Amino acid sequence: MGVVKYPANTQITEHFNSNEFRCPHCGVTRISTELVNKLEALMKKVHASKCIISSGYRCPYYDKQQNGFAGRHSEGLAVDCCFYDKNCKIIPSKVMCCVAYDMGFTGVAYIDKNYLHLDIRKNGTYYGDESRGNSSYWTDPYAYFHVSREEVEKYTGKTETDDLYQSHGLKRKWYPNVKFGDGDYAGVFGVTMDGLYVDKYKYRARVNGRWLPEVVGRSDYAGILGYAITDVAISGNVKYRVHVKNQKRWLPWVDGKDYNINDYYNGYAGNGSIIDAIEIKRY
Ligand SMILES: [Zn+2]
Ligand SMILES: [Zn+2]
Repeated sequence: MGVVKYPANTQITEHFNSNEFRCPHCGVTRISTELVNKLEALMKKVHASKCIISSGYRCPYYDKQQNGFAGRHSEGLAVDCCFYDKNCKIIPSKVMCCVAYDMGFTGVAYIDKNYLHLDIRKNGTYYGDESRGNSSYWTDPYAYFHVSREEVEKYTGKTETDDLYQSHGLKRKWYPNVKFGDGDYAGVFGVTMDGLYVDKYKYRARVNGRWLPEVVGRSDYAGILGYAITDVAISGNVKYRVHVKNQKRWLPWVDGKDYNINDYYNGYAGNGSIIDAIEIKRY
């Protein structure tokens, strides 16, 4: 675990100096380098501007004096801390509990609305709520603290997943999957498209002048194999465009927020002509 006795005023990582972790009673700093690196990673994860350590190392004598027992702080494996966002506002500790839990800290405890306890104990786990005493535990921080994924993403940013889409060529096959927004498209120019899969989103296709029922994600594909697709509508935070086979050109990008099969101008992609390719990207 690399617990090191650091000299005073030693820069350990970009944001942390040994002084921040020292025992207030004797001035000694014994702290795990792994813990400090993990705190640094946690700061990056939430785009924090600053982390205040209110308690780091506590020598066994001092820890016992404070708590009645020598715990993880006396082993150099724990900190009590508070994080600030880009605008120097405190990130709620309940949010930090969720992020720290997801990052694999084995000790995470809520102290108050600003501060939390973090440690990297190797035997067992400790997920607590010290505002309710030392024997208050939780298993799922999101449920326990009523924190939504969106609330966490305000600090971490959207967690990118690889959403994919895939087209089928008339009398051919399913072409390879394409990632949203990587500059590629699904389909082969000159080959009529007759099927389309899009991960996660709601979408539908028009065949023979008729809109087929809406499909969601990979529960089904849009289209009828053997029949040309002329128009596509996709709903959600995406932009997409289709390529018209005979005109050999891309039609303008359409916004998934405007999803409406009755709106010829903005609601879907296509002009009633056979398409051979589609491109989808995120906002
Ligand atoms: Zn001490
Ligand atoms: Zn603590």
